[in-house]
Amino acid sequence: MSLYICMTQAITFALGISVGSFLNVVIHRLPRNQSVISPGSHCPECGSVIRVVDNVPLLSWVILLGLCRDCGAVISSRYFLVELLTGALTVAVIAKYGVTTQGLLYCFLVWTLISVSFIDLEHQIIPDELSVGAAISGLAVSFMTPIGFDGALAGFLLGGGVFFILAIAYPGGMGGGDIKLMAAIGAFIGWKLVLLTILIGSAVGSVAGLSSMALFGKTRKDRIPFGPFLALGAIISVLWGDWVIAVYLDTIV
Ligand SMILES: [Zn+2]
Repeated sequence: MSLYICMTQAITFALGISVGSFLNVVIHRLPRNQSVISPGSHCPECGSVIRVVDNVPLLSWVILLGLCRDCGAVISSRYFLVELLTGALTVAVIAKYGVTTQGLLYCFLVWTLISVSFIDLEHQIIPDELSVGAAISGLAVSFMTPIGFDGALAGFLLGGGVFFILAIAYPGGMGGGDIKLMAAIGAFIGWKLVLLTILIGSAVGSVAGLSSMALFGKTRKDRIPFGPFLALGAIISVLWGDWVIAVYLDTIV
């Protein structure tokens, strides 16, 4: 690997983990209806302001052993995980699409999906600020992407439509949040990749749902947050979707 590529990836990773640090704020505050802008970061336990030196993505959490410097409260490993995940996925998206309009838009989508997943896991909700916000942004900027407005609209209608029908067919299964999220994903990636997202998301979601019933005695009535599986499907589609579709067509046709 050339030095130039190495440098680019290091810079992208550094930017990615900094975005991840902000996503942690979004994940904590958005479902609690708090502003994501102010006040600055503070310990959720004792409320003391986090010093700049203790607010370095990844490193601070490791150096402080996941504890607040002031009160010693445990800072969730989610903070570290979200930063690492955001850094790694940002590098992966830029490695594939470059610093292009499409690459940056896919980064924006992936960041939104990371926030959605962790909020859905903890609170079983997908905030409209993220899903509806992404759907509108995706449609609005679609004229700058290879799929264009037609492609974005087709993805928006297909993603939202399939989940709308599922929600009517199986009441209590899908939530309104899942419908809006799929419409948003479709607006960014178009109808082909949104179809792949639905296939991957439901396959992984079903396996996870069935195993949680078998292992933890959960019943069909327990709502399993579906957002993280849809996010996973979308991220796989963005990174390897063209390859998966090519292999599929090669095998079938
Ligand atoms: Zn504290």
